[in-house]
Amino acid sequence: MTATTLKGETILIATHNKGKLEEFRQIFAPLGIAVTSAGERGLAEPAETENSFVGNARIKAKAAMEASGLVTIADDSGLCVDALDGAPGVYTADWAGPSRDWTMAMRTVEEKLQAKGATTPERRGATFNCTLVVLWPDGRERIFVGQAPGHLTWPPRGALGHGYDPMFVPDGGKGKTFAELSADEKNAISHRARALALLMKELL
Ligand code: IMP
Repeated sequence: MTATTLKGETILIATHNKGKLEEFRQIFAPLGIAVTSAGERGLAEPAETENSFVGNARIKAKAAMEASGLVTIADDSGLCVDALDGAPGVYTADWAGPSRDWTMAMRTVEEKLQAKGATTPERRGATFNCTLVVLWPDGRERIFVGQAPGHLTWPPRGALGHGYDPMFVPDGGKGKTFAELSADEKNAISHRARALALLMKELL
């Protein structure tokens, strides 16, 4: 049985997002693990047709692993709002439209919360989710899930981060939004950092 570790491997990150790639590279480089990406190799981006984070992460991992022959890590993430029955969830990026208009996406979430009468922090609970799928060419697979619970505030605050960060107040963030926290502060409590910590504990 082949040892299930990432040590000594060249890992392909199944993303075209430079920010995500950089986050992975910063973690793996000090450990002597080489990292490349689907974007750097010019691989096609598969359609995310599943209705779960793990399903879509698996699609991305499988396509990139088959095209590269390398151990591959894919992630799928999104915001799940309690009062909206978990929406936007796997459709988190889609709510920003083709031009990725995050102001519009946040306003859509806010309008839906207002329509539900969700005006107090207790009724505005939300969780950022990150699912990582690690896939080896011989078919082995590991799944790691990280969550950052919190609530949604309005109007948006802060200029750091990306996506829905300005309206998300994480638990343990001293009342600041993700967009008001430094990268180090966000990385101490974020969904992606938590999923990565679980991955590193098991595979490194
Ligand atoms: P995907 O995982 O690349 O399919 O995209 C998920 C979407 O979730 C991103 O486009 C972001 O809008 C959103 N998202 C994921 N993580 C974060 C975060 O840490 N802050 C804000 N938005 C996020």
